[in-house]
Amino acid sequence: MTSSISDINCDAVNKEVLKALLKLKENSQCADCQAQDPSWASVNLGIFLCIVCSGIHRSLGTHISRIKSVELDSWKAAEIETFKQTNNVQANEFWEAMLPIGFIKPTYADSNGYKDAWIRCKYEKKSFVPIEYENETVKRLNFNAREGFIYKKGDLIKNWKRRFMKFVGDEKLEYFKSKNERTPCGSISLKNTGQIDSVNEVDGKSFCFIISTPKRRYLISCDTREDMFVWIQNIRKSSQIVNCNN
Ligand SMILES: [Zn+2]
Repeated sequence: MTSSISDINCDAVNKEVLKALLKLKENSQCADCQAQDPSWASVNLGIFLCIVCSGIHRSLGTHISRIKSVELDSWKAAEIETFKQTNNVQANEFWEAMLPIGFIKPTYADSNGYKDAWIRCKYEKKSFVPIEYENETVKRLNFNAREGFIYKKGDLIKNWKRRFMKFVGDEKLEYFKSKNERTPCGSISLKNTGQIDSVNEVDGKSFCFIISTPKRRYLISCDTREDMFVWIQNIRKSSQIVNCNN
C-alpha cells in the first residue's frame, strides 16, 4: 500500500508531537538506565530509551516491547497515544513499584549483561509491579535469601566448583562444599571491593559475575539470570554499607 501525501504529512505531525513529549523533563533520561537524552521508544510501553536499552528491549520480543526510533521511523497517530498518557517517571512508578528498600538502580555505566538482567526482570518477569497486579505471570525475586548454590572458579586450579555461598552480615561472603558444611572453604571480604558486575559467558558457564577485591578477582556463575541479578544487587548493597562505614 502506498502512502498518500496526507498520510506522510500526518506522520510528520505525529513525530513532532512525539518529539515534544520527549522534551518533557520526565522523559529526559532513559527509563531503564538513566542515560541522558533517549532517542528510542517502546511503542506499547510508552517509554523512551537509550540505544543500548532499546536493543535489549528488542530482544525481549514485540509481545513485551515494540521498539521504534523517534527520529528514523514514521509514527502513526495511534502509536503516540500511550506517550501522551504516560512518561518515563510515571511508567517507572508502575514497573518499579515493588523495588526493595535501598535498591541500587542499574545505570548506563553497568555491563550490558547486568542491564539485560534488570530489563528482563522488570518487564518479562514483572518482578517489581504493584502488589495489586500480582498474578501467575508475575515472578518476584527473593532479595532476602542471601544464600544459595553457585559455581566458583578456582584461583590456582582454574576449574569451576559447585559451592554453597552465603553472606556473613554485610562484611563478607563465605562458601562451602555443601549446604550443611560448618567450615567454609573460603570467604570473600567485601571491604574495598571494586567492580561487582556481570561478565560474558566464561568457559561455557552462563550468568557469570565478578567481584573485584584488592586481593583477587572472584568469578562466580549462577544457575539463572535472576539469581545473578539478585547476587549482584545484594553484594553491591552490602559492599556499599561496609565501605561507607570505613
Ligand atoms: Zn538505557
